[in-house]
Amino acid sequence: MGRRSSRLAGLVLGGLLGLAAIGWWMNRNRLVAVVREPPAVMGTTCTLIAIVPAHQASATDTAFTNAERSLRLIESRMSSWIDASEISRFNRAAADCRISLSESTYHVFEKAKEANDATGGAFDVTCRPLIELWRSADESDVMPTESDIRSARDRSNWSHIQLGETAAAKSTKTARVDLGGIAKGYAIDQVVEVFKANGIESGLVDIGGDQRFWGTSVEGRQHEVAIRNPLGDEESAIFEFRVWDCAVCTSGDYARSFEVGDQRFSHIIDPQTGRPVVGVASVTVFASDALTADIWATALSVKGTQGLKELPKGIDALMLVRRKGAASAGFEALASSGLADRIIGPLPDGVEVSKPD
Ligand code: AMP
Ligand code: MG
Repeated sequence: MGRRSSRLAGLVLGGLLGLAAIGWWMNRNRLVAVVREPPAVMGTTCTLIAIVPAHQASATDTAFTNAERSLRLIESRMSSWIDASEISRFNRAAADCRISLSESTYHVFEKAKEANDATGGAFDVTCRPLIELWRSADESDVMPTESDIRSARDRSNWSHIQLGETAAAKSTKTARVDLGGIAKGYAIDQVVEVFKANGIESGLVDIGGDQRFWGTSVEGRQHEVAIRNPLGDEESAIFEFRVWDCAVCTSGDYARSFEVGDQRFSHIIDPQTGRPVVGVASVTVFASDALTADIWATALSVKGTQGLKELPKGIDALMLVRRKGAASAGFEALASSGLADRIIGPLPDGVEVSKPD
């Protein structure tokens, strides 16, 4: 072989090695989604996704273990299905008995109280006796009377509850709370913090369909959010949005609805009437944290379309309202005025923007 051709062979070999090295480096750094699905979290499904460079995928174990530990701890403190939880102890307590709470439960109590003011009373964790009343109507198949409803409402409200120094007390034994409309959102935010503290720069936390995204998708782009058709099955999406860092929580009347006689009812109670809400098929709220999105999804289900015009800055929503004879399969889609700015890409066809009066 002459000197020229051996130099050429060297160059070709060097080039190939260079390409192989680039390929190896790209493969090592390509983003992958590591998925875990801890079973039965807060009585629902849970999906945790860490999006990391491929070479870090096997090092995500600690983050997942810490995330799951955080979820189980929150559940053990805030679930009203667990007898030993702080909430169950508070609900069972006698009048004027001081129940000390962990910092996290106390924080959620305070946020729930603030939310009651911010939503004009639509979000009210003290309506637990009403929730129990409607649950027993579901079991007995007998409608509660107006006086049952009034007395369940009178048994518990915020004026009966005192908060202070990481403890709660109540002035009447009958006051009870239910954190079902806020605890999931709180848990999602906590788990995102755990992932971030463990060096996970992108991902998704989903508890029962309530979600929070951070960083990028596995393609390095915005995350895609699908909004379910409330009249279809679980897989039927009607709208898709793209978002960066964002919490997206949905309250729908199809979730955990129940029947009394031949009437179907929502699991969300209007604290003012004491009855399950009607008309709003689903509300999806977009906010920077899941606690806020979770609260407002429930609150807007109560407030209805007028609530879209009263949303605080930084919170946006898409509301699907049941209408007889509406063009698209029995409901209309209404969006708060800031939604188009928050999501990436135009609003889907058929979404009407609800402008403040
Ligand atoms: P979500 O599905 O997030 O809207 O939460 C609904 C759950 O919150 C219900 O299952 C009840 O436990 C509780 N809840 C029902 N009505 C209200 C209300 N008006 N305010 C606060 N929590 C409520
Ligand atoms: Mg919710």
